[in-house]
Amino acid sequence: MQQFFDIHPKLIEYDLKARELCKDAFAEIDRISMHNQHKVLAAFIKNGVSESHLGISTGYGYGDRGRDTLEQVFADCVGAEDSLIRHNFVSGTHTLSVMLFGVLRPGDKMLCLTGRPYDTLIGVLGIDGHSDGSLKDFGIGYEQVELSEKGEPDIKEIKKRLSEENFKVAYIQRSRGYSLRPSLTVEKIGELCKAVKEVSPETLILVDNCYGEFVDTIEPTSVGADLIAGSLIKNPGGGIAPTGGYIAGRHDLIEACGYRLTCPGVGREVGASLGHNRELYMGLFAAPHTVGEALKTAAYAGALFELLGFESTPKFDAKRADIIESVLLKTPEALVAFCQGMQKGAPVDSFVTPEPWDMPGYDDQVIMAAGAFTLGASIELSADAPLREPYAAWLQGGLNFASGQAGVLLGAQSMVDKGIIKL
Ligand SMILES: *Cc1c(COP(=O)(O)O)cnc(C)c1O
Repeated sequence: MQQFFDIHPKLIEYDLKARELCKDAFAEIDRISMHNQHKVLAAFIKNGVSESHLGISTGYGYGDRGRDTLEQVFADCVGAEDSLIRHNFVSGTHTLSVMLFGVLRPGDKMLCLTGRPYDTLIGVLGIDGHSDGSLKDFGIGYEQVELSEKGEPDIKEIKKRLSEENFKVAYIQRSRGYSLRPSLTVEKIGELCKAVKEVSPETLILVDNCYGEFVDTIEPTSVGADLIAGSLIKNPGGGIAPTGGYIAGRHDLIEACGYRLTCPGVGREVGASLGHNRELYMGLFAAPHTVGEALKTAAYAGALFELLGFESTPKFDAKRADIIESVLLKTPEALVAFCQGMQKGAPVDSFVTPEPWDMPGYDDQVIMAAGAFTLGASIELSADAPLREPYAAWLQGGLNFASGQAGVLLGAQSMVDKGIIKL
């Protein structure tokens, strides 16, 4: 490595120790990604994916067999009846929005079981005074049950609320987002689903599955979720899909979401794939492996920074529920140095120096390190950090472990250069 990068010899020793520490965690990640790879391969074979599915359609996209077959392949991969997986979902937030508007009707109410949702959902829901055609504008009620002090869903309170009033939707966010609560394992989501259906069998369970796909051997659709949704520039796009999103779950609900994505009466029958089918198939095929590489990068970062005297969550050997690792760097100087160092290891835009900046929708300045082939793709190595206590960097992605390791190590080296880490 030192042939190509300027890394302090003592830091190289930490690197070796960190990788040694991660041995068992890496073996478990390999086991899961092998299982998932076999599952995905079997779904391709079962659905007879052929070269003719990889072609292009234009205009209305009527009869695009590649597009329609991909939806069945994806459904099989996540243990669902049906799915919508399309390049014309413009982001994860758009996909989640289509899922919610697809299912909810004026007068309905939704209950979020996992505290305050991910920042970009606030505008979709219409809380905190947002309107702009939000769910609230359409007369859809919203409530949330706060997480316990440990950051766990409060099952007792959830059951209480569901037995007091009629909620059409119970909403679960699997990943921690940019909070320090633990992400939910599929097993935990299963417990939540069971609790919901016990008191309110008619309530639909919708899961924001962003960052969670292929981290475990099953998805929330196998433990009671009625719909899951996520972004293709995260896990299930495998680092290859250039844009897009998916919704998977019950057939009738997927049809309803199709009517929202395009328009009532037309739904899923249209939508030209414009040549993106090949990238979506390839990305899905690569996803189990790519997610494994990102998970190894996350575990490695946790181990390296623990050895260097910083706390990180989850711990390097903990069971993971998503691809995010947060490293508590303690000071703004450390945070900036880390992000600037990591940027130096990016395959694209390595020469750029990230700086903290005001961002719309954030109260504090934010610094981001990312040098990706796909703009904003966080399955590629990236770090985001608001400049506030506890000065944590949220790290995710890494298309392959060797480049992820290099990025993380260059982040640490930059902290050495600034005298923040003393070796
Ligand atoms: C990324 C993410 C979203 C939103 O996706 P965008 O593509 O950024 O719009 C929503 N929820 C969670 C948990 C996410 O990680």
